[in-house]
This record gives sequence, C-alpha cells and structure tokens, in this order.
Amino acid sequence: MTMTDTELRLATVRADLAGLAADALVIGQEHNRRYLTGFTGSAGLVVVTADAALLLADSRYVEQAAREAAGFEVVKVPGRFQDTLGERLKALGVAKVAFEAEHVTVAELKRWQEGLPDLAFMPATGIVERQRAVKTPAELGAIRRAAALADAAMGHVMATVRPGQTEAEVAWAIERFLREQGAEGLAFPPIVAAGENGALPHHHPGQRVIAAGEPIVVDLGACLDGYNSDLTRTFSIGPARDADYGAVFAIVAGASAAAQAALRPGLTGLAADAVARDRIKAAGFGEQFGHSLGHGVGLNVHEGPRLSFVPPESELAAGNVVTVEPGIYLSGRFGVRIEDLVVIHDQGVEVLSQAPSLPVVNPGDRS
Ligand code: ZN
Ligand code: ZN
Repeated sequence: MTMTDTELRLATVRADLAGLAADALVIGQEHNRRYLTGFTGSAGLVVVTADAALLLADSRYVEQAAREAAGFEVVKVPGRFQDTLGERLKALGVAKVAFEAEHVTVAELKRWQEGLPDLAFMPATGIVERQRAVKTPAELGAIRRAAALADAAMGHVMATVRPGQTEAEVAWAIERFLREQGAEGLAFPPIVAAGENGALPHHHPGQRVIAAGEPIVVDLGACLDGYNSDLTRTFSIGPARDADYGAVFAIVAGASAAAQAALRPGLTGLAADAVARDRIKAAGFGEQFGHSLGHGVGLNVHEGPRLSFVPPESELAAGNVVTVEPGIYLSGRFGVRIEDLVVIHDQGVEVLSQAPSLPVVNPGDRS
C-alpha cells in the first residue's frame, strides 16, 4: 500500500511531534493548514496527536472542510476556537501542546494560556515549513503551470508595451491577462518600474509614463491551484539611452547563470547567494545589490529555503523550488533584475521560467 501525500505529511508531522516531547501540535497558519489537510478556507485550526487528526472549523466552513480534508475529523466550532480547542485537547488527554511560534500572535497565546490553564504551551518552529520546502510531483506540476502562465504574461507585456503608457496601465494589463488566461489570482501585485523607478526593487507602479530607451523592470507571478510563480525581466523599448545599461545587464545575466550552474542539493543558501554576489562585487556593483539572491516558492510566494547572506542558513535539497534573482540598482538612473524560477534536482537545476531574457525589445519587430 502506498501512502497518499496527505498521509505522508501527517506521518512526518507525527514523527516531529515525538521529537518535540509534546502530546499535540496545533496548526493555524493558512498555508500550513492547507498543506496538511487540503482545506482551502480562510479560518480553522488543525490538531495532530499520535492518534488523532482534527480540523476545527466554524459554521462558515464545516461543510467545505468535510469535503476537502480527507482523513481529518472535522469538528464544528460553535463559539470561540479556544473553547473547542480546550475541550478537544482535554478529551484527548493532552498535557503539552506545541504551537507555531512564528505565526501565533502574543495576544492569541495569552488568551490560550489564560483560558486553558491546565495545558503547557510549547513554541515550535518550521515543522510544516520544512516539509513544504521539498515539493511533490503534484506540487511541481502546479508550479510549472503557474510559471508557464507568468511566462505568457511577460511575453504579452514585451509584445504590447508602448512608449507613452504608464506603469500602472502596464500593471493592469498584466493583471487582466493573468486572470483571463486562467490564473486564480496574482502571486503578488505586479511591479512595473521604469527608468529611475527601477532602482527601487519593490517599486509600486504609478502614473510614471514609460519612454522609449529606458530600462523597465517587470516582476510578476501567477497563482494556480494554490501554487505561485515569480518572474522578473528587464528590458528597454528600443536601444537604451544610458550607455552603462548593456554592461550592467550582462553582469546581472552572468551572475544569474553562474548561480544557476552552481545550485545543487547540499549547497547552503549562503553559498548559493555568494556565487552571484561575488561576481557582482567583482564587477564593482556589490553595494548596488542589497537584497538576497532568492527564495523558495510554493503555496506562499516567499517560503523556504532562502538563498541569502542573511541568517538563518538554509541547505538546499532536491525538490526545492527557488528563485534566482540577482539585481543591480543604480539610484536615480535605472535598475536591472533578472529572476528565474528553478527546481533543484540531484543532477542540477531545471529552469521553469522560459520567457526570453533580452535587454532590448524593438517596436519594429512587433506588429
Ligand atoms: Zn519577483
Ligand atoms: Zn522573487
């Protein structure tokens, strides 16, 4: 008999629970909850013990929870979640309960401790996130579809963007395209940053009019079946007016290629980041690359593992899906970021992002 993904996820959480010396684990973070149970609602608490697997849901969601969360006993919450939680934990004979230290607020923990004085609450970190970092074939399928949609949206932008459009107009065209092509949502609001705005890595698109010959940074992603993609391209419409743009683009592209060639299971996120960063430093732009090289992508657009010079350190494993997104940002002039989504396999990386990465698109080439 083979285990389903849900059974395997539950078994892994139970093994972690045994290591924590806790009797139960309570999961409330929405992506962790969905990952474990399949339940897609916006509220609910998962309780896992060695023998029990419960999903507490309120009246809005009990029916949906029963349909989606196969293998979980769905418990209706008539009033406050903590009251039902307390009753159920007591019935299960739980004394020590582990909770998600990174997601439970201080106020929520205080309510639990005051309302359920017989229980000992133990902070736990990354229990579900560690599993989520390594994707199953089904998850990879969803991410591939989300990446293909992002590629199509980028192709649409490159083929249709015209001088005289505003950043906000292009951002809206991206949103419309993604939804019309079947995305269930955006991974995040698209970034369209022209000229000097491109030097702000997370610029919010506004009324800035795009001119010919200035670099434009476009960062977008689709959400499909709960899974996200993340893609950035930089290009100018017609030859760039800034004489340094071509050289900067080539440095960023070279750093990206070097990092992608180095990625493999066992490499640390710090070492991966350093491959790209060292090249950009050697070219004299170390100070102009302030952010991390990349991040994991899945149910959340930013998750583990991290490709970063900032602790805590991650170690890469086969099945990780990460971005590789070096950038150089020249204040007051322009920015260049190139971001690809890749899967780490034992033999090396599989690049999911297939949108062409070209420094210049020519209006003359387009109809
Ligand atoms: Zn991005
Ligand atoms: Zn990203």
